[in-house]
Amino acid sequence: VVTACDHAMIAMNSVKGAYTKRIAWYEAEMTEEMETEAKILLEVKRALTNHEFVLHWQPQCNTRTERIVGLEALVRWQHPSRGIVMPGAFIPVLERNNFIASLDLYVWEEACRHIRSWIDRGGVPIPVSVNISRADLYAIDVVEALEGLVSRYDLDHRLLELEITESAYAEDEKMADAVARLKGLGFTILMDDFGSGYSSLNMLNKMPIDILKLDMKFIQNETEKQASQGILRFTMGLARWMDLSVVAEGVETRQQLERLKKADCDYVQGYYFARPMPINEFEELLRNGQTAM
Ligand code: C2E
Ligand code: CA
Ligand code: CA
Repeated sequence: VVTACDHAMIAMNSVKGAYTKRIAWYEAEMTEEMETEAKILLEVKRALTNHEFVLHWQPQCNTRTERIVGLEALVRWQHPSRGIVMPGAFIPVLERNNFIASLDLYVWEEACRHIRSWIDRGGVPIPVSVNISRADLYAIDVVEALEGLVSRYDLDHRLLELEITESAYAEDEKMADAVARLKGLGFTILMDDFGSGYSSLNMLNKMPIDILKLDMKFIQNETEKQASQGILRFTMGLARWMDLSVVAEGVETRQQLERLKKADCDYVQGYYFARPMPINEFEELLRNGQTAM
């Protein structure tokens, strides 16, 4: 009976929050998946103390000049036996298990530490975007944490940009309040993955954001077809009307870049310019003539 109840509970949890699925059958893989998650969690705790998480940096460029104007910090797990593990393999697990904030606090601090080191070495500090998960807001006081970091590392608020995914905004007073306070302190707020969710337009109205970051699918599905060009133009028009800048991410080809130029998109990020890279490679890139700003 105990096992039957456990299995029923596991099956139920597999459809928790999925409002269209009302029935779930238990499968042995569900237990395996749970065990894998538990293992990942345990390992992440160890990895944090061992400093196995590193940041890779991806340039964001001005569409017109093609110069670097910013960087996004993306986390990677340098696993002692599995090599580099991409965030898709562990971030969702951490988000589901209320552990993402521990990692994000570490990432935000690493980002601040790097900006401080650029300034101390006499370089032009480049604004860095970090990612904020919705789960962070429930686990910690995000405003206090970020304010504490910029003051500890003595940074201008404008040097730390905050990317919050669109779905995280959904009908959430706590989120709206935190975003308003962060914006009031002088942080730049980006709405990440814009256009991938269902409530984009409603959210735009409620959130005091600065920059729209168009979802990758948006750019990659963009074709010569008039309808799809129309959506890009409409979004650009909307952004202008609301006084927002626009970053397009996932730009992989010259053709995509040209279309974005034509549409008057402000910034671009993607493999066409550079893949996310370790800090030493990025600094090399800057030394080799790719000037910032
Ligand atoms: P994101 O914030 O939307 O980040 C953009 C993702 O697109 C990155 O994947 C990046 O490597 C990838 N990308 C950039 N340019 C291109 C391109 O031209 N083509 C294609 N196909 N992909 C491109 P990555 O690094 O695997 O990160 C995946 C997601 O994990 C991120 O999506 C973000 O939501 C999350 N993430 C990464 N680092 C952190 C972190 O420190 N904290 C939190 N909470 N989430 C993070
Ligand atoms: Ca992002
Ligand atoms: Ca994104």
